[in-house]
Amino acid sequence: MGLLEGKNALIFGLANDKSIAWGITQAFKREGANIGISYAGEMLEKRVKPLAEKVDCKWVEECDVTKDDQINLVAEKAAKHFGKIDVLVHSIAFAGRDELSKPYYQTSREGFKNALDISVFSFVALTNAFHSIMNKNASVMCLTYYGSVKVAPHYNVMGVAKAALESSTRYLAYDLGPEKIRVNAISAGPIRTLAAAGVGGFRDMYKHFADMAPMRENVTIEDVGNAAVFLASDLSTRITGEVLYVDSGFNSVGVQMTDKGNEKSE
Ligand code: NAP
Repeated sequence: MGLLEGKNALIFGLANDKSIAWGITQAFKREGANIGISYAGEMLEKRVKPLAEKVDCKWVEECDVTKDDQINLVAEKAAKHFGKIDVLVHSIAFAGRDELSKPYYQTSREGFKNALDISVFSFVALTNAFHSIMNKNASVMCLTYYGSVKVAPHYNVMGVAKAALESSTRYLAYDLGPEKIRVNAISAGPIRTLAAAGVGGFRDMYKHFADMAPMRENVTIEDVGNAAVFLASDLSTRITGEVLYVDSGFNSVGVQMTDKGNEKSE
């Protein structure tokens, strides 16, 4: 029997088969979850529907998380279709190209607001909108990145947004703890996705990561999907307010050296 058998899981942020949300969706399906998918933009026919069909997902709903009416409507539709839900995954982020290439101090007011609205407030808003249909022992999660804690060149306002997202995770966990609803974040190492392509210098950073991480390997959407299964399942029943790193150990290293630098000097 799968770890998520009998659980209703909603996943927000599926853009294509490279999306972290797709890694999570596939892992949830493998473990027996009943899946609902939400997406933004106009990719339904071309990208999202074929993927939804692969996992027998009958509930596919558009939701632009900058719009309160769309969030409320999608929550109503979920209530009608699923009754109650057990898992809510937020895999959404956005920042403009300028914000991810210029120096951080040149961030515009509009760019700052937009990035924080889509990448952070939406997590709070979705949790609020779905709260009334969450089962006891429900699990809520979001996706974050180490640029929240340390500087990742060009990550800029997204780093600031991820810091706020991780903090929101703790506040939401505090609020919902008495109801036995858990809220956690997964901090993934760099993965080649649409969102990542917008970050200046991502290719170099991706390569540097594999050279420097203790496990000398990049992270895959399957790795993140498996960690998400753990957080969604009853195996993590007493874990809340945490940031779980899926990063080949990268965040644990203080002084980074190449393999050459690690060789003993003669
Ligand atoms: P992705 O496939 O591009 O997913 C990002 C998703 O956010 C897309 O589905 C996008 O939809 C959605 N989105 C953007 N604006 C939205 C809005 N207004 N309303 C609703 N959805 C909106 O990239 P990803 O890398 O898998 O990103 C998923 C999450 O993982 C993000 O939180 C990201 O920061 C995080 N993360 C990524 C990495 C990495 O290296 N890739 C590492 C750590 C954490 P559209 O494309 O249709 O606009």
